[in-house]
Amino acid sequence: MESNFNCLSRSPSLCMYVPSVEQHKNELHEEPKKIKEVYFALARAYTIEEFNRHMAKLETIDSRVKTYLMDIGYDKFSQAYSKTNRTTTMTLNIAESVNASNKHARDLPVVNLLDFMTTLIQKWNYTNQKDVVESFMKIGVKYENILADNTILSQTMTVLLSTQFLHLVIDGQTRNVVRLHEKNCTCGRFQLDDIPCPHAMAVIQKFHMDSYKYCSDYYSIDYLLKTYEIPVNPLSDETT
Ligand SMILES: [Zn+2]
Repeated sequence: MESNFNCLSRSPSLCMYVPSVEQHKNELHEEPKKIKEVYFALARAYTIEEFNRHMAKLETIDSRVKTYLMDIGYDKFSQAYSKTNRTTTMTLNIAESVNASNKHARDLPVVNLLDFMTTLIQKWNYTNQKDVVESFMKIGVKYENILADNTILSQTMTVLLSTQFLHLVIDGQTRNVVRLHEKNCTCGRFQLDDIPCPHAMAVIQKFHMDSYKYCSDYYSIDYLLKTYEIPVNPLSDETT
């Protein structure tokens, strides 16, 4: 089983579909490694301007790539062109993890393989649930780290108040407009990641607001617990 789903998201469960460059390397045979690198930067771009910059770079490597990607449709692989944010897209990217874990068990007879898979999923379910229950955080560790990183980045920014929920944040040479009540920033990250970007964090820090209020509910510990609330029951021996 080979996955055509490459995870662009920082969330393991919230991914976008992208065409595999490896899979099409015969069609894109000019410098595939370079193409792959720029392609992923293109797919991860938060704004159309950033997307266009990477696309121009791709065209200089192989001019046929743009037509190839246009035929697929930009909205199929680019988060800047995507019509939705990542927390409203439910996809699963477990194939590669399963493939890596059952490498040796695949040589076993089918009954033993099924037994191995049941035990493996039970173990994953138990460990993940235990980690969430023992966590004293309001959101998952990964999202706490994103908030912490964005808080650090926000330290050097200047916030200019426009209205209660509309702010101009100056970040070096760039000017970003943050609309807190819409969970939106002109950098594109706030609305696409559903978690405050560094510019939004600059506003939140300046006015001592609650950053968790501006994170998606899907990142909360309550929602993470719901993921593992259905137990994977062990199977007894058929002879007993
Ligand atoms: Zn921003």
